[in-house]
Amino acid sequence: MTARRGPGQAPPPEAQGAQEAQGAQPAQDGHPSWEALAEAVAGCTRCPELAAARTRVVPGRRPPSARLLVVGEAPGAQEDASGEPFVGRSGQLLDEVLAGAGLDRAQVAVTNTLKCRPPANRKPRRAETERCRGWLRTQIALLDPAVIVTLGGSAAEWFFGPGVRLGALRAEPLTWEGRRVVATYHPSAAIRWGPAGAPLAALREDLRTAAALVAAA
Ligand code: SF4
Repeated sequence: MTARRGPGQAPPPEAQGAQEAQGAQPAQDGHPSWEALAEAVAGCTRCPELAAARTRVVPGRRPPSARLLVVGEAPGAQEDASGEPFVGRSGQLLDEVLAGAGLDRAQVAVTNTLKCRPPANRKPRRAETERCRGWLRTQIALLDPAVIVTLGGSAAEWFFGPGVRLGALRAEPLTWEGRRVVATYHPSAAIRWGPAGAPLAALREDLRTAAALVAAA
């Protein structure tokens, strides 16, 4: 079902098919830097509904020395207003969990699979995700992170295809196009389930795993 395999091992045929399908939208090449790409994303109108409804595009943030890339689903209301990723309650929790894993947000790149807020925070539509896919692909190529962390089901699906289950993905680190990936819960799920809920414990554990992978890379 997923690309769970060790480095150097060929992906199973179904994963190859998913990756080929995902690669059908090419990277938006030609941008010499993350900043140049962010400028280009700011003018993107490929999704007419999202472009009309957004306040600001949220390309993401990348400290120059970032070796870890965190990928969420889409901007929310506060991100749409500020143009910054993960600035609401989810962002505060993300910062806290990163710090608990020994990671400073200042050393971590953060973005989303979708760069514009879906109206009323609805789930991103498949067509929107596909239109936006090239921007994230190019960000990954420009950043060349040692490790990628996906937050929530939509981000995990971006990498490993529709229908993947977080519970199954979490058992061990994953590989996507030769890169180490850790799939975990979105901070909003951890907030929803509360401090004693399984998603928060999983988020903490998985970010510690990601930190160890970055340290070992
Ligand atoms: S979501 Fe992505 S592809 Fe759609 S308009 Fe925004 S930046 Fe462009």
